[in-house]
Amino acid sequence: MKTLHLKAMDENAVNEITKAAEILKNGGLVAIPTETVYGLAASAFNESAVANIFKAKGRPNDNPLIVHIAEITELEKIAKDITPIAKKCMDSFWPGPFTAVLPKTEVIPASVSGGLNTVAVRMPNNPVARAIIKKSGLPLAAPSANRSGSPSPSTANHVIDDLDGRIDAVVISENCEVGVESTVVTFATEPPRLLRPGAVTAEQLKELIPDLIIDPAVTAEPEKGVAVASPGMKYKHYAPKAEVIMAVGSINSFCEYCNTHKADFDFALCYDEDEKNLLIPHLSLGENENHEKQAELLFKYLRDIDKKGYKRVIVHAPLKEGVGLAVYNRLIRAAGFKVIDL
Ligand code: AMP
Ligand code: MG
Repeated sequence: MKTLHLKAMDENAVNEITKAAEILKNGGLVAIPTETVYGLAASAFNESAVANIFKAKGRPNDNPLIVHIAEITELEKIAKDITPIAKKCMDSFWPGPFTAVLPKTEVIPASVSGGLNTVAVRMPNNPVARAIIKKSGLPLAAPSANRSGSPSPSTANHVIDDLDGRIDAVVISENCEVGVESTVVTFATEPPRLLRPGAVTAEQLKELIPDLIIDPAVTAEPEKGVAVASPGMKYKHYAPKAEVIMAVGSINSFCEYCNTHKADFDFALCYDEDEKNLLIPHLSLGENENHEKQAELLFKYLRDIDKKGYKRVIVHAPLKEGVGLAVYNRLIRAAGFKVIDL
């Protein structure tokens, strides 16, 4: 696996961007930084390259990929029937951590869309990602650059840990500032529906889409046998090897529960406000109301839990507001939907 170094957009950057673009044009796989998490990119038009993404990640074939573009003119090549409300959202949130699901055109292979007649599209904000997309001249299919099921990668080292030897190159760049994957909204249904929460919040979306539906699978386990709007939501996800349990309740009830059940857990993931009363080993995701910080640290901490060898971890559920909804959505999946109501 090649390593391309792109810490800064300096003179050397042009060379590295050209190398990354050449690999992509030749059907290779390159892990690239975005503002959300590292993505594993390949040409969205190249079926064998797309097949290699699924192989490298061990991703189920029915879980579709997000297609990344750098110019709005690329959109009409891959998506159609774009409603005024979808257009308004893209104008407001692009470039940025926002993905629109839209009816697809024929140029998008079924392997990219997981056999659906829709395609998920995002225009990222990260300058390195944008430069690589532009230089390749291709829309890039790019799921998170981790092994399927494990916590998403927010640093280049996370990508190397998971995919070394399985992909052609990784771009070594800054850590991802958001830390969780993009907000996904489908405009293929009326009214539009939030499928995955992210840094563009439900509150922000509702200002533009007053009748937005929050898919029930955002905060709960999809019912068995019922079709899910977003195939990715039915899988246990983002999970460390340790068994994780999510506890919902106040600071006092969380600390009391952990301290009285300290034989059951070897580690707790909590907030600054919990720390002074906790008697078991723990790590704080930051202040209870600082959801941006929690999102930034989340996947790094889930990976650290495995590195330290913890086996049973209790996590204090975040507030379901702002970016906290995204943190809650990832943690409930990391916990395989095991929740204790305190
Ligand atoms: P990842 O690429 O790992 O960030 O995951 C992409 C997410 O977007 C998954 O949860 C997918 O199920 C979802 N997604 C991608 N394409 C579509 C689509 N056409 N319809 C619904 N959900 C989609
Ligand atoms: Mg993923």
